[in-house]
Amino acid sequence: MRYLSTRSASPALPVSEAMQLGLAGDGGLFLPESLPAFSAGDFGGLKTLPDIAHRLLAPFFEDDVLAPDLAEICAATFDFPAPLVTPKGEPGLRLLELFHGPTAAFKDFGARFLAQCMSRCDMPDPRPLTVLVATSGDTGGAVAAGFHGLPGIDVAVLYPEGRVSPRQERQLTCWGGNVHAFRVRGDFDACQRMVKGAFADPALSAARRLCSANSINIGRLLPQMVYYAAASLALYRETGEPPGMIVPTGNLGNALACLLARRMGLPIGPVVLATNANRTIPDFLRTSDWQPRSSIATLASAMDVGNPSNMERVRSVFGETADAVTSEVRAYAVEDAEIEREIVRAHRDWGEILCPHTATAAFVCRERLGEHERESLWTLVATAHPAKFETVVEPLIGTPVPVPAALARLLELPSVSQPIDADVGALRNALA
Ligand SMILES: *Cc1c(COP(=O)(O)O)cnc(C)c1O
Repeated sequence: MRYLSTRSASPALPVSEAMQLGLAGDGGLFLPESLPAFSAGDFGGLKTLPDIAHRLLAPFFEDDVLAPDLAEICAATFDFPAPLVTPKGEPGLRLLELFHGPTAAFKDFGARFLAQCMSRCDMPDPRPLTVLVATSGDTGGAVAAGFHGLPGIDVAVLYPEGRVSPRQERQLTCWGGNVHAFRVRGDFDACQRMVKGAFADPALSAARRLCSANSINIGRLLPQMVYYAAASLALYRETGEPPGMIVPTGNLGNALACLLARRMGLPIGPVVLATNANRTIPDFLRTSDWQPRSSIATLASAMDVGNPSNMERVRSVFGETADAVTSEVRAYAVEDAEIEREIVRAHRDWGEILCPHTATAAFVCRERLGEHERESLWTLVATAHPAKFETVVEPLIGTPVPVPAALARLLELPSVSQPIDADVGALRNALA
Protein backbone atom coordinates (compact mmCIF):
# COMPACT_ATOMS: atom_id res chain seq x y z
CA MET A 1 0.00 0.00 0.00
CA ARG A 2 1.25 3.44 -0.98
CA TYR A 3 0.25 6.80 0.48
CA LEU A 4 -0.52 9.90 -1.57
CA SER A 5 -0.84 13.56 -0.65
CA THR A 6 -4.29 15.17 -0.81
CA ARG A 7 -2.62 17.74 -3.08
CA SER A 8 -1.11 14.95 -5.20
CA ALA A 9 2.11 16.76 -6.04
CA SER A 10 4.27 14.50 -3.82
CA PRO A 11 5.57 11.01 -4.56
CA ALA A 12 3.68 7.99 -3.23
CA LEU A 13 5.30 6.58 -0.09
CA PRO A 14 5.01 3.50 2.12
CA VAL A 15 3.22 4.06 5.42
CA SER A 16 6.28 4.24 7.67
CA GLU A 17 7.76 7.03 5.53
CA ALA A 18 4.46 8.92 5.43
CA MET A 19 4.34 8.68 9.22
CA GLN A 20 7.85 9.97 9.65
CA LEU A 21 7.14 12.96 7.41
CA GLY A 22 3.79 13.75 9.01
CA LEU A 23 2.89 16.34 6.39
CA ALA A 24 3.51 15.69 2.69
CA GLY A 25 6.16 17.78 0.95
CA ASP A 26 3.50 19.69 -1.02
CA GLY A 27 1.75 20.73 2.21
CA GLY A 28 -1.04 18.17 1.78
CA LEU A 29 -2.07 15.30 4.05
CA PHE A 30 -1.30 11.65 3.40
CA LEU A 31 -4.04 9.20 2.48
CA PRO A 32 -3.82 5.56 1.40
CA GLU A 33 -4.08 5.19 -2.38
CA SER A 34 -7.07 2.89 -1.92
CA LEU A 35 -9.26 1.55 0.89
CA PRO A 36 -9.45 -2.20 1.44
CA ALA A 37 -12.95 -3.72 1.42
CA PHE A 38 -14.16 -5.71 4.43
CA SER A 39 -17.38 -7.33 5.51
CA ALA A 40 -18.42 -8.19 9.06
CA GLY A 41 -17.68 -11.85 8.23
CA ASP A 42 -13.99 -11.08 7.66
CA PHE A 43 -13.68 -10.54 11.40
CA GLY A 44 -15.46 -13.78 12.35
CA GLY A 45 -14.28 -14.98 15.73
CA LEU A 46 -12.10 -11.94 16.39
CA LYS A 47 -13.10 -10.19 19.58
CA THR A 48 -10.17 -8.36 21.15
CA LEU A 49 -8.97 -4.95 20.04
CA PRO A 50 -5.43 -6.15 19.16
CA ASP A 51 -6.81 -8.97 16.97
CA ILE A 52 -9.32 -6.75 15.19
CA ALA A 53 -6.62 -4.08 14.81
CA HIS A 54 -4.24 -6.51 13.16
CA ARG A 55 -6.85 -7.79 10.71
CA LEU A 56 -8.10 -4.29 9.84
CA LEU A 57 -4.71 -2.61 9.53
CA ALA A 58 -2.73 -5.36 7.75
CA PRO A 59 -3.64 -4.10 4.24
CA PHE A 60 -2.48 -0.60 5.21
CA PHE A 61 0.97 -1.97 6.10
CA GLU A 62 1.35 -4.28 3.11
CA ASP A 63 4.90 -4.07 1.69
CA ASP A 64 6.03 -1.76 4.47
CA VAL A 65 9.12 -2.41 6.61
CA LEU A 66 6.82 -2.34 9.66
CA ALA A 67 4.53 -5.11 8.37
CA PRO A 68 6.28 -7.90 10.32
CA ASP A 69 5.97 -5.84 13.53
CA LEU A 70 2.30 -4.96 13.12
CA ALA A 71 0.93 -7.60 15.50
CA GLU A 72 3.34 -6.44 18.19
CA ILE A 73 2.53 -2.77 17.53
CA CYS A 74 -1.19 -3.51 17.87
CA ALA A 75 -0.69 -5.49 21.07
CA ALA A 76 1.37 -2.67 22.62
CA THR A 77 -1.10 0.01 21.53
CA PHE A 78 -4.42 -1.62 22.31
CA ASP A 79 -3.66 -2.82 25.82
CA PHE A 80 -6.57 -0.98 27.42
CA PRO A 81 -10.26 -1.50 26.70
CA ALA A 82 -12.84 0.57 24.77
CA PRO A 83 -16.02 -0.61 26.48
CA LEU A 84 -19.60 0.00 25.35
CA VAL A 85 -21.78 1.17 28.22
CA THR A 86 -25.59 1.36 28.17
CA PRO A 87 -26.89 4.45 29.99
CA LYS A 88 -29.61 3.74 32.53
CA GLY A 89 -33.06 3.63 30.90
CA GLU A 90 -31.67 3.86 27.33
CA PRO A 91 -31.60 0.36 25.80
CA GLY A 92 -31.01 1.79 22.29
CA LEU A 93 -28.03 3.90 23.29
CA ARG A 94 -24.38 3.12 24.02
CA LEU A 95 -21.47 5.17 25.22
CA LEU A 96 -18.24 4.08 23.54
CA GLU A 97 -15.73 4.88 26.28
CA LEU A 98 -12.41 5.77 24.69
CA PHE A 99 -10.85 7.17 27.85
CA HIS A 100 -9.28 4.20 29.60
CA GLY A 101 -5.72 4.88 28.41
CA PRO A 102 -2.84 6.58 30.25
CA THR A 103 -4.05 10.16 29.70
CA ALA A 104 -7.77 9.38 29.81
CA ALA A 105 -8.77 10.50 26.30
CA PHE A 106 -9.21 8.79 22.93
CA LYS A 107 -5.99 10.33 21.62
CA ASP A 108 -4.04 7.74 23.60
CA PHE A 109 -4.88 5.18 20.89
CA GLY A 110 -3.42 7.18 18.00
CA ALA A 111 -0.46 8.53 19.94
CA ARG A 112 0.60 5.15 21.29
CA PHE A 113 0.31 3.54 17.88
CA LEU A 114 2.37 6.26 16.24
CA ALA A 115 5.03 6.06 18.97
CA GLN A 116 5.21 2.26 18.66
CA CYS A 117 5.63 2.57 14.88
CA MET A 118 8.23 5.36 15.03
CA SER A 119 10.33 3.58 17.60
CA ARG A 120 10.53 0.58 15.26
CA CYS A 121 11.50 2.52 12.13
CA ASP A 122 15.19 2.35 11.26
CA MET A 123 16.66 5.82 11.25
CA PRO A 124 19.83 6.08 9.19
CA ASP A 125 19.71 9.87 9.59
CA PRO A 126 22.24 11.61 11.89
CA ARG A 127 19.85 14.46 12.76
CA PRO A 128 17.92 13.97 16.01
CA LEU A 129 14.27 13.11 15.40
CA THR A 130 11.98 15.73 16.91
CA VAL A 131 8.26 15.12 17.18
CA LEU A 132 6.35 18.41 17.06
CA VAL A 133 2.86 18.50 18.40
CA ALA A 134 0.40 21.38 18.67
CA THR A 135 -2.33 20.65 21.16
CA SER A 136 -5.62 22.16 22.24
CA GLY A 137 -5.39 19.98 25.32
CA ASP A 138 -5.50 16.22 24.95
CA THR A 139 -3.16 15.53 22.01
CA GLY A 140 -0.04 16.78 23.74
CA GLY A 141 -0.53 14.66 26.83
CA ALA A 142 -1.27 11.54 24.82
CA VAL A 143 1.74 12.09 22.53
CA ALA A 144 4.00 12.87 25.49
CA ALA A 145 2.82 9.69 27.23
CA GLY A 146 3.27 7.61 24.08
CA PHE A 147 6.80 8.83 23.31
CA HIS A 148 8.14 9.47 26.79
CA GLY A 149 11.39 7.59 27.35
CA LEU A 150 11.77 6.33 23.76
CA PRO A 151 15.49 6.54 22.86
CA GLY A 152 16.65 8.88 20.06
CA ILE A 153 13.35 10.81 19.91
CA ASP A 154 12.65 14.31 21.31
CA VAL A 155 9.14 15.65 21.73
CA ALA A 156 8.16 19.34 21.66
CA VAL A 157 4.61 20.01 22.85
CA LEU A 158 3.05 23.42 22.00
CA TYR A 159 -0.11 24.41 23.81
CA PRO A 160 -2.10 27.67 24.06
CA GLU A 161 -1.44 29.34 27.41
CA GLY A 162 -4.58 29.67 29.51
CA ARG A 163 -6.70 27.65 27.07
CA VAL A 164 -6.29 24.15 28.51
CA SER A 165 -7.75 22.87 31.76
CA PRO A 166 -5.44 22.81 34.82
CA ARG A 167 -5.34 19.01 34.82
CA GLN A 168 -4.70 18.90 31.08
CA GLU A 169 -1.82 21.28 31.60
CA ARG A 170 -0.31 18.99 34.20
CA GLN A 171 -0.53 16.10 31.74
CA LEU A 172 1.42 18.17 29.22
CA THR A 173 4.09 19.37 31.58
CA CYS A 174 4.76 16.47 33.97
CA TRP A 175 7.08 14.37 31.79
CA GLY A 176 10.58 15.82 31.63
CA GLY A 177 13.33 13.74 29.96
CA ASN A 178 12.81 13.75 26.19
CA VAL A 179 9.52 15.71 26.42
CA HIS A 180 9.64 19.54 26.29
CA ALA A 181 6.45 21.53 26.96
CA PHE A 182 6.04 25.05 25.50
CA ARG A 183 3.15 27.31 26.52
CA VAL A 184 2.43 29.53 23.53
CA ARG A 185 1.17 33.10 23.83
CA GLY A 186 -1.63 32.51 21.33
CA ASP A 187 -4.50 30.16 20.53
CA PHE A 188 -4.49 26.59 19.21
CA ASP A 189 -4.52 27.72 15.59
CA ALA A 190 -1.37 29.75 16.32
CA CYS A 191 0.24 26.57 17.73
CA GLN A 192 -0.73 24.68 14.58
CA ARG A 193 0.71 27.46 12.41
CA MET A 194 4.00 27.24 14.33
CA VAL A 195 4.24 23.51 13.63
CA LYS A 196 3.48 24.03 9.94
CA GLY A 197 5.96 26.93 9.88
CA ALA A 198 8.64 24.80 11.50
CA PHE A 199 8.43 22.27 8.66
CA ALA A 200 8.89 25.07 6.14
CA ASP A 201 11.87 26.53 8.05
CA PRO A 202 15.17 25.56 6.34
CA ALA A 203 17.35 26.20 9.41
CA LEU A 204 15.19 24.03 11.62
CA SER A 205 15.00 21.13 9.24
CA ALA A 206 18.76 21.25 8.63
CA ALA A 207 19.37 20.81 12.34
CA ARG A 208 16.62 18.34 13.17
CA ARG A 209 14.51 15.75 11.49
CA LEU A 210 11.05 17.05 12.20
CA CYS A 211 7.96 14.94 12.43
CA SER A 212 4.42 15.91 13.33
CA ALA A 213 2.35 13.87 15.74
CA ASN A 214 -0.80 15.92 15.25
CA SER A 215 -4.01 14.33 14.14
CA ILE A 216 -2.83 15.12 10.61
CA ASN A 217 -0.32 12.25 10.95
CA ILE A 218 -1.59 9.19 9.12
CA GLY A 219 -0.11 7.05 11.92
CA ARG A 220 -2.69 8.49 14.29
CA LEU A 221 -5.61 8.25 11.93
CA LEU A 222 -5.26 4.55 11.03
CA PRO A 223 -5.51 3.08 14.57
CA GLN A 224 -8.58 5.22 15.33
CA MET A 225 -10.53 3.12 12.83
CA VAL A 226 -10.01 0.12 15.08
CA TYR A 227 -12.39 1.02 17.91
CA TYR A 228 -15.11 1.88 15.40
CA ALA A 229 -14.62 -1.52 13.81
CA ALA A 230 -14.67 -3.31 17.16
CA ALA A 231 -17.68 -1.41 18.53
CA SER A 232 -19.75 -1.72 15.36
CA LEU A 233 -18.96 -5.43 15.01
CA ALA A 234 -19.90 -6.10 18.64
CA LEU A 235 -23.19 -4.20 18.34
CA TYR A 236 -23.99 -5.67 14.94
CA ARG A 237 -23.41 -9.20 16.22
CA GLU A 238 -25.59 -8.43 19.24
CA THR A 239 -28.50 -6.65 17.51
CA GLY A 240 -28.24 -7.24 13.76
CA GLU A 241 -28.37 -3.47 13.32
CA PRO A 242 -25.48 -1.23 12.18
CA PRO A 243 -25.21 1.39 14.94
CA GLY A 244 -25.22 5.12 14.17
CA MET A 245 -22.29 7.04 15.59
CA ILE A 246 -22.32 10.54 17.05
CA VAL A 247 -18.78 11.87 17.22
CA PRO A 248 -17.62 14.95 19.16
CA THR A 249 -15.53 16.78 16.56
CA GLY A 250 -12.80 19.39 16.48
CA ASN A 251 -10.02 18.79 13.97
CA LEU A 252 -12.10 15.99 12.40
CA GLY A 253 -9.56 13.18 12.89
CA ASN A 254 -11.69 10.93 15.06
CA ALA A 255 -14.80 11.30 12.90
CA LEU A 256 -12.81 10.76 9.70
CA ALA A 257 -11.63 7.41 11.09
CA CYS A 258 -15.28 6.49 11.62
CA LEU A 259 -16.21 7.50 8.07
CA LEU A 260 -13.31 5.51 6.63
CA ALA A 261 -14.26 2.43 8.67
CA ARG A 262 -17.78 2.64 7.26
CA ARG A 263 -16.49 3.16 3.72
CA MET A 264 -14.40 0.00 4.14
CA GLY A 265 -17.55 -2.00 4.88
CA LEU A 266 -17.79 -2.06 8.67
CA PRO A 267 -21.42 -2.18 9.88
CA ILE A 268 -21.83 1.48 10.83
CA GLY A 269 -25.09 3.40 10.34
CA PRO A 270 -25.43 7.18 10.04
CA VAL A 271 -22.46 9.26 11.22
CA VAL A 272 -23.30 12.57 12.90
CA LEU A 273 -20.75 15.15 14.00
CA ALA A 274 -21.20 17.23 17.13
CA THR A 275 -19.07 20.38 17.27
CA ASN A 276 -18.96 23.04 19.95
CA ALA A 277 -19.61 26.71 19.10
CA ASN A 278 -16.75 26.55 16.57
CA ARG A 279 -19.13 25.90 13.72
CA THR A 280 -16.96 25.90 10.60
CA ILE A 281 -18.09 22.37 9.66
CA PRO A 282 -21.87 22.71 10.25
CA ASP A 283 -21.79 26.06 8.43
CA PHE A 284 -20.02 24.46 5.47
CA LEU A 285 -22.58 21.68 5.20
CA ARG A 286 -25.41 24.22 5.42
CA THR A 287 -24.05 26.94 3.11
CA SER A 288 -21.58 24.98 0.89
CA ASP A 289 -19.04 27.65 1.74
CA TRP A 290 -15.80 26.55 3.44
CA GLN A 291 -14.93 29.43 5.77
CA PRO A 292 -12.09 28.60 8.18
CA ARG A 293 -11.89 31.15 10.99
CA SER A 294 -10.16 31.79 14.30
CA SER A 295 -11.19 29.43 17.04
CA ILE A 296 -13.24 30.61 19.99
CA ALA A 297 -12.83 29.28 23.52
CA THR A 298 -15.57 26.93 24.72
CA LEU A 299 -16.14 24.47 27.57
CA ALA A 300 -15.24 21.61 25.21
CA SER A 301 -11.77 23.08 24.75
CA ALA A 302 -10.15 20.12 22.98
CA MET A 303 -12.58 20.84 20.13
CA ASP A 304 -11.78 24.57 19.84
CA VAL A 305 -10.72 24.41 16.21
CA GLY A 306 -11.68 27.03 13.64
CA ASN A 307 -9.88 25.46 10.69
CA PRO A 308 -10.30 21.67 10.94
CA SER A 309 -7.33 20.28 9.01
CA ASN A 310 -8.84 16.91 8.23
CA MET A 311 -11.59 18.43 6.09
CA GLU A 312 -8.98 18.35 3.35
CA ARG A 313 -8.88 14.56 3.69
CA VAL A 314 -12.65 14.21 3.95
CA ARG A 315 -13.12 16.15 0.71
CA SER A 316 -10.35 14.25 -0.99
CA VAL A 317 -11.94 10.88 -0.14
CA PHE A 318 -15.64 11.68 -0.41
CA GLY A 319 -15.76 14.59 -2.88
CA GLU A 320 -14.96 18.29 -2.79
CA THR A 321 -18.48 19.73 -2.68
CA ALA A 322 -20.63 20.27 0.40
CA ASP A 323 -23.22 18.00 -1.27
CA ALA A 324 -20.72 15.15 -1.52
CA VAL A 325 -19.78 15.58 2.14
CA THR A 326 -23.41 15.98 3.26
CA SER A 327 -24.32 12.66 1.72
CA GLU A 328 -21.80 11.03 4.11
CA VAL A 329 -22.28 12.96 7.30
CA ARG A 330 -24.33 15.58 9.15
CA ALA A 331 -23.07 18.08 11.70
CA TYR A 332 -24.59 20.15 14.50
CA ALA A 333 -23.03 22.84 16.67
CA VAL A 334 -23.64 22.81 20.42
CA GLU A 335 -23.35 25.97 22.54
CA ASP A 336 -21.74 26.09 25.98
CA ALA A 337 -25.11 26.52 27.73
CA GLU A 338 -26.33 23.35 25.99
CA ILE A 339 -23.20 21.45 27.03
CA GLU A 340 -23.86 22.47 30.64
CA ARG A 341 -27.49 21.46 30.41
CA GLU A 342 -26.55 18.07 28.99
CA ILE A 343 -23.96 17.33 31.69
CA VAL A 344 -26.61 17.98 34.35
CA ARG A 345 -29.23 15.96 32.52
CA ALA A 346 -27.03 12.92 31.74
CA HIS A 347 -26.01 12.72 35.38
CA ARG A 348 -29.61 13.02 36.57
CA ASP A 349 -31.31 10.76 33.98
CA TRP A 350 -28.61 8.25 33.10
CA GLY A 351 -26.35 8.27 36.15
CA GLU A 352 -23.46 9.04 33.76
CA ILE A 353 -20.85 11.77 34.27
CA LEU A 354 -19.90 13.13 30.83
CA CYS A 355 -16.94 15.30 29.90
CA PRO A 356 -17.92 18.53 28.05
CA HIS A 357 -16.88 17.00 24.69
CA THR A 358 -18.94 13.87 25.13
CA ALA A 359 -21.84 16.08 26.24
CA THR A 360 -21.99 17.63 22.76
CA ALA A 361 -22.74 14.18 21.31
CA ALA A 362 -25.35 13.44 23.97
CA PHE A 363 -27.01 16.79 23.31
CA VAL A 364 -27.13 16.16 19.57
CA CYS A 365 -28.63 12.74 20.19
CA ARG A 366 -31.41 14.10 22.38
CA GLU A 367 -32.14 17.37 20.64
CA ARG A 368 -31.16 17.07 16.98
CA LEU A 369 -32.10 13.55 15.88
CA GLY A 370 -35.61 13.07 14.54
CA GLU A 371 -38.05 11.21 16.78
CA HIS A 372 -38.11 8.30 14.34
CA GLU A 373 -34.32 8.21 14.06
CA ARG A 374 -34.00 8.10 17.80
CA GLU A 375 -35.62 4.62 17.70
CA SER A 376 -32.51 3.14 16.02
CA LEU A 377 -29.33 2.12 17.77
CA TRP A 378 -26.93 5.00 18.47
CA THR A 379 -23.43 5.12 19.89
CA LEU A 380 -22.20 8.28 21.57
CA VAL A 381 -18.45 8.49 21.35
CA ALA A 382 -17.11 9.35 24.83
CA THR A 383 -13.83 11.03 24.03
CA ALA A 384 -12.43 11.93 27.47
CA HIS A 385 -12.85 11.04 31.11
CA PRO A 386 -14.80 13.75 32.97
CA ALA A 387 -12.11 13.91 35.68
CA LYS A 388 -9.91 15.82 33.21
CA PHE A 389 -12.50 18.61 33.15
CA GLU A 390 -13.55 18.63 36.76
CA THR A 391 -13.60 22.45 36.92
CA VAL A 392 -16.45 22.40 34.39
CA VAL A 393 -18.21 19.24 35.48
CA GLU A 394 -18.15 19.26 39.29
CA PRO A 395 -20.02 22.55 39.86
CA LEU A 396 -22.75 21.32 37.50
CA ILE A 397 -23.35 17.95 39.09
CA GLY A 398 -22.54 19.06 42.63
CA THR A 399 -20.32 16.08 43.44
CA PRO A 400 -16.61 15.30 42.95
CA VAL A 401 -15.64 13.25 39.88
CA PRO A 402 -13.60 10.17 40.89
CA VAL A 403 -10.11 10.34 39.33
CA PRO A 404 -8.87 7.20 37.49
CA ALA A 405 -5.67 5.77 39.03
CA ALA A 406 -3.45 6.39 35.97
CA LEU A 407 -4.49 10.04 35.83
CA ALA A 408 -4.05 10.47 39.58
CA ARG A 409 -0.43 9.31 39.28
CA LEU A 410 0.37 11.88 36.57
CA LEU A 411 -1.24 14.71 38.53
CA GLU A 412 1.22 14.13 41.38
CA LEU A 413 4.31 14.77 39.25
CA PRO A 414 6.02 18.22 39.18
CA SER A 415 5.03 20.51 36.27
CA VAL A 416 7.62 22.19 33.98
CA SER A 417 6.94 24.32 30.88
CA GLN A 418 8.62 27.15 28.97
CA PRO A 419 6.71 30.27 27.78
CA ILE A 420 7.13 31.08 24.08
CA ASP A 421 5.87 33.68 21.58
CA ALA A 422 3.60 32.47 18.80
CA ASP A 423 6.12 32.50 15.97
CA VAL A 424 8.45 30.06 14.28
CA GLY A 425 11.56 32.11 15.12
CA ALA A 426 10.85 31.68 18.82
CA LEU A 427 10.45 27.94 18.34
CA ARG A 428 13.67 27.75 16.30
CA ASN A 429 15.56 29.46 19.13
CA ALA A 430 13.96 27.31 21.80
CA LEU A 431 14.92 24.09 20.00
CA ALA A 432 18.46 25.21 19.13
C1 LIG B 1 -9.24 15.94 20.37
C2 LIG B 1 -10.52 15.75 21.07
C3 LIG B 1 -11.74 15.84 20.39
C4 LIG B 1 -11.82 16.19 18.92
O1 LIG B 1 -11.28 15.17 18.11
P1 LIG B 1 -10.83 15.52 16.60
O2 LIG B 1 -10.21 14.30 16.10
O3 LIG B 1 -9.90 16.68 16.70
O4 LIG B 1 -12.08 15.90 15.88
C5 LIG B 1 -12.90 15.60 21.09
N1 LIG B 1 -12.87 15.31 22.40
C6 LIG B 1 -11.73 15.22 23.09
C7 LIG B 1 -11.77 14.90 24.53
C8 LIG B 1 -10.52 15.42 22.45
O5 LIG B 1 -9.38 15.35 23.14
